Amino acid sequence: MKRILLKLSGEALSGSKGFGFDESNAASVAAQIKKVADTGIQIGIVIGGGNFWRGRTSGDMGRSQADQIGMLATIMNCIYMSEAVRHTGLMTNVLTPFECGSFTKLYSKDRAEKYLNAGHVVFFAGGTGHPYFSTDTATALRAIEIGADMILLAKAVDGIYDSDPKTNPDARRYDTISIDDVIAQKLGVMDLTASIMCMENKMPMRVFALDEKDSILKAVSGDFNGTTVTV
Ligand code: UDP
Repeated sequence: MKRILLKLSGEALSGSKGFGFDESNAASVAAQIKKVADTGIQIGIVIGGGNFWRGRTSGDMGRSQADQIGMLATIMNCIYMSEAVRHTGLMTNVLTPFECGSFTKLYSKDRAEKYLNAGHVVFFAGGTGHPYFSTDTATALRAIEIGADMILLAKAVDGIYDSDPKTNPDARRYDTISIDDVIAQKLGVMDLTASIMCMENKMPMRVFALDEKDSILKAVSGDFNGTTVTV
């Protein structure tokens, strides 16, 4: 494996607080990222925004504006996590699909690949830059663009179940499932737009729980507790 795209939810940064940042959570994720990078694997990262804002639950305001706030939330998360990763000694870059002055650099595939090849951890912040999309869609899009070998989807739940394990105690977890079945069964691992992009572009995925010890390292190794999505 040469290049991965890691997706973290915004909640991964807030830990048990559920809002904002949790320093120790971010530090432990950063420590794992450092270990992965030290093996020579190139790492791109997308982070959600749910620890600050979700466009679709913003009441009466316009969806486009609400989504813009959501995209800005993902930039805060990436700047924060980028700093945590820099503390481990790695170089990082935060790229956005729109200008943010000197805070970030403008995304292009070439620029991203240049940094990845130099061993920098590259944060894809600001989602796709468009409303009505999600950071899942941004994850699929960037993974496909940069030719990642796979997406590592770190979630609150330890894989993909046939029904919601929070509400159904008999829910069964898949060790392996095809992306076609994920879509056919409408399993909510990613939103449908993102899943369809992964299907069309043959982008595999490993889904696991972030809060399990060394879960990112294990997911990279392939010997992990979670679900493999095949294409
Ligand atoms: N968002 C967007 N376009 C994108 C990515 C994100 O509009 O390409 C906005 C949207 O409002 C979303 C928020 O940013 O609710 C946070 O992104 P995330 O994917 O975490 O949202 P979730 O799906 O968890 O609501």
